[in-house]
Amino acid sequence: MEPPVTETQVAIIGAGPAGLMLSHLLQREGIASVILESRSRAYVQQRVRAGVLEQGTVDLLDELGLSERLHREGLVHHGLLLTLDERRYRIALTELTGGRALTIYGQQEVVKDLIAARLAGGGEIQFEVEDVQLEALETEHPRVRYRQQGTARELRCAFIAGCDGFHGVSRPAIPPGVLTTYERHYPFAWLGILAAVAPSTEELIYARHARGFALHSLRSPEISRLYIQVDRTEELGDWSDDRIWNELRLRLAADGFTLRDGPVLEKSIALHHSFVVEPMQHGRLFLAGDAAHIVPPTGAKGLNLAVADVRVLARAIERWYRAGHTEDLERYSERCLGRVWRVQEFSASMSALLHRLPGTDPFEDRVARARLEWICRSQAEARSLAENYVGLPWD
Ligand SMILES: Cc1cc2nc3c(=O)[nH]c(=O)nc-3n(C[C@H](O)[C@H](O)[C@H](O)COP(=O)(O)OP(=O)(O)OC[C@H]3O[C@@H](n4cnc5c(N)ncnc54)[C@H](O)[C@@H]3O)c2cc1C
Repeated sequence: MEPPVTETQVAIIGAGPAGLMLSHLLQREGIASVILESRSRAYVQQRVRAGVLEQGTVDLLDELGLSERLHREGLVHHGLLLTLDERRYRIALTELTGGRALTIYGQQEVVKDLIAARLAGGGEIQFEVEDVQLEALETEHPRVRYRQQGTARELRCAFIAGCDGFHGVSRPAIPPGVLTTYERHYPFAWLGILAAVAPSTEELIYARHARGFALHSLRSPEISRLYIQVDRTEELGDWSDDRIWNELRLRLAADGFTLRDGPVLEKSIALHHSFVVEPMQHGRLFLAGDAAHIVPPTGAKGLNLAVADVRVLARAIERWYRAGHTEDLERYSERCLGRVWRVQEFSASMSALLHRLPGTDPFEDRVARARLEWICRSQAEARSLAENYVGLPWD
């Protein structure tokens, strides 16, 4: 028996930041979409990940009328603190970038807001779908087959947006030989905690320390987010809460600074990985966000890059529907990859600058320290870091 068929204009695989933003951008242009998500709504809304939003991401959420809670609860940051040898240096992000700033607002909060608004606006998101398979990508009528609550279904569309993250099914649906992969695995990971304690700092602290990197980030006036560099083979079970707090205390130490600790709500280890596929499209399938590229979290860019991709994609699809323009669709990949590689370079150089590896060649160590010191002292260097960190203008 043939499965029940639904039709839409754009099938979106994945209800992460990329898929949800895309559905809102398309809705604004009057273009219909259906999102298929393998997890439950509750699961995607509590998945703790990113939290640093670039100015452009916030501006786009403003444009779409999706930022009311973000402005109420988000924390606007105008600077960040770098630490070397227990000395803090401030990078004045807003002053150095002509007024741009960062907003700290958890990715899961963005996801909650986008889901609520999309469903309230009559949008369709199907959660807990299984066995998603993309077919007929090289034709003008691609389709998605999947199962929902045990029933086989088919979604017919004009375009498929593969927004299903690094482990999704969209990228592997592209035939062998089409994609070129560029990749780097780093020899370290970040052990991250979410803690129920007021942040001990008003601005993010990035610390380079002989014991390894540490980052003090924030999520709200009551919740802190902290990370330490660990070896990529470390097991979470070997890290008690006390051991983590002690390590954070040592690595974040500076004159007059006291780290407040508190109950650990969540603990995880994230490996550092850089990854890009080229091109980010095949036939009528367009990859966006982590499905096409991963950056190490040091530059806080993954979510922002996902938003940048779907902004380009939504415009290309809109121009195709409005005026039959194919050029923007054909150049989707090329347009996204310029920003992707800029961000890869920034994230890799921030990682090299701030992490110290056991057994590092002492010469390299001194060079990295000299570079960090120069960033802290030279306005030109600090401006370059600030421009990249708050996010480059869209075009
Ligand atoms: C610890 C950590 C910290 C981070 N910190 C930052 C930060 O500070 N700033 C920043 O910008 N980025 C950060 N990132 C990166 C950021 O979280 C990701 O880049 C971002 O989630 C990418 O969004 P996405 O929508 O492309 O993919 P995802 O968020 O991965 O969403 C993909 C969605 O697709 C769904 N899916 C997967 N497979 C299927 C399937 N077969 N069928 C249907 N649905 C499927 C998944 O369940 C998921 O909901 C961090 C990441 C980690 C792990």
